[in-house]
Amino acid sequence: MKFYQEPAKKTPIAAEVDVLVVGGGPAGFSAAVNASRSGAKTMLIELAGQVGGMATTGLMSHWTGSTQGGFYEEILDRSHEDPKHRQIINPEILKFEMLKMLNEENVELRLYTMVVDVIMEGNKTVGVITESKSGREAFMAEVVIDGSGDGDIAAKAGVPYYKGREDDGKMQPVTIMFKVAGVDTERALLPGSFETTFDVPGGDLQTLAKEHIPHPAGHVLLYRTTLPGVITCNMTNSVDIDGTSAEDLTKAEYVCRSQIPHIVSFLRKYVPGFEECYVIASAANVGVRETRHFHGEYMLTEEDILSARKFDDWVVTKAHFNFDVHSLTGPGLDETGMQKEFPQDNSYTIPYGCLLPQKVEGLLLAGRNISGTHMAHSNFRVMPICANIGQAAGVAAALAVKHNGLPRRLDVGHIQAVLKKQGVDGLQPAASSPN
Ligand SMILES: Cc1cc2nc3c(=O)[nH]c(=O)nc-3n(C[C@H](O)[C@H](O)[C@H](O)COP(=O)(O)OP(=O)(O)OC[C@H]3O[C@@H](n4cnc5c(N)ncnc54)[C@H](O)[C@@H]3O)c2cc1C
Repeated sequence: MKFYQEPAKKTPIAAEVDVLVVGGGPAGFSAAVNASRSGAKTMLIELAGQVGGMATTGLMSHWTGSTQGGFYEEILDRSHEDPKHRQIINPEILKFEMLKMLNEENVELRLYTMVVDVIMEGNKTVGVITESKSGREAFMAEVVIDGSGDGDIAAKAGVPYYKGREDDGKMQPVTIMFKVAGVDTERALLPGSFETTFDVPGGDLQTLAKEHIPHPAGHVLLYRTTLPGVITCNMTNSVDIDGTSAEDLTKAEYVCRSQIPHIVSFLRKYVPGFEECYVIASAANVGVRETRHFHGEYMLTEEDILSARKFDDWVVTKAHFNFDVHSLTGPGLDETGMQKEFPQDNSYTIPYGCLLPQKVEGLLLAGRNISGTHMAHSNFRVMPICANIGQAAGVAAALAVKHNGLPRRLDVGHIQAVLKKQGVDGLQPAASSPN
């Protein structure tokens, strides 16, 4: 590869804050609101022109899985449209509610801005470098929270990581979500999981999809919205994509978009209620499920989730979902079938150590990029759990600012005491007593 040596440049410092959150998805948004609420001067930097991440830009259907207590409930209180189905997302409502909440909490917000590098003092992050229409800028902070989904900041800072599945590095497929209107929702069949299928006049619905929708798409996942006649489709599929490669993302954009007309024709022909359907919207971005797994002070494992483990140093409690690994080669579930056979009804906790990256100080992980194995990640990656991880990261960051900007030095009991006051059910006595 050839290289171009850039000349050294002076970069203007655009802001100096206590807590800087990168990424405004469910995790980063929650971290920013809660850091500010906990008294820190907080700034959120987001690449897109809106906040919400996959929940809004990704045109997501619904909040899946559960947590009880904590900030996720507050997001639902503020943004749900249908009291009977609070988890269904109307991205247009959510986008603005999130902006209002950031505004109410005095979080400084910068949209349309990509973080491209970190500023380090020794092994401590002290800021980030951004690129945007405003040019190249520096933002300085006592504590940085990485809510970028892919962990762009942790990677630049030198936190060790691997990508994808432990044995071969393969990552979950990517998808462009889209919505169709003109559906007769009274008659519509809505398979909400890979295992849900229906007998339709042409045969078994999921089998027909594999036959008639171009590979590697070929499953039917359809979700009700709050709007009349509108259904969200989670049906495009592109495999062997590394979501941290712009080249791969560009390829996936073409693959997924080329599947949409075929999927719509399939829905019209084979799925009752969809005879007159047509596309009204698609996500602005390819939705990426999985990329980097960082080494944290603790790495959450599938055994922790299967045993519904209660950690003394919990910062997220009552998390529940199944293992959700989509096939890495085509439509449907991965070959382990772990989703189908998920045996645990009880919830688990996430310890503070999963948010603390190895080797780097002044940095917290939040959202799908916390430290966890491929299989554990397939569970905690859902948005309710990511939102409550963000809440914990925001509280911890604000507390760390009062303790020399070093989250690792923080007594987890202090974090737990604040979280309990905010409605997070503690489950366990704190490892050390807060004061
Ligand atoms: C296709 C698909 C379907 C899914 N279905 C569901 C579902 O039905 N229910 C559910 O609960 N979960 C679902 N998930 C999982 C869930 O959406 C994500 O795992 C979750 O949104 C992760 O939250 P996050 O805040 O960590 O990251 P994200 O939501 O990905 O947000 C990260 C944010 O960071 C920004 N960002 C990234 N890099 C930078 C940078 N360098 N500088 C500045 N900003 C940056 C991005 O623009 C984005 O806004 C789905 C995921 C996918 C991909």
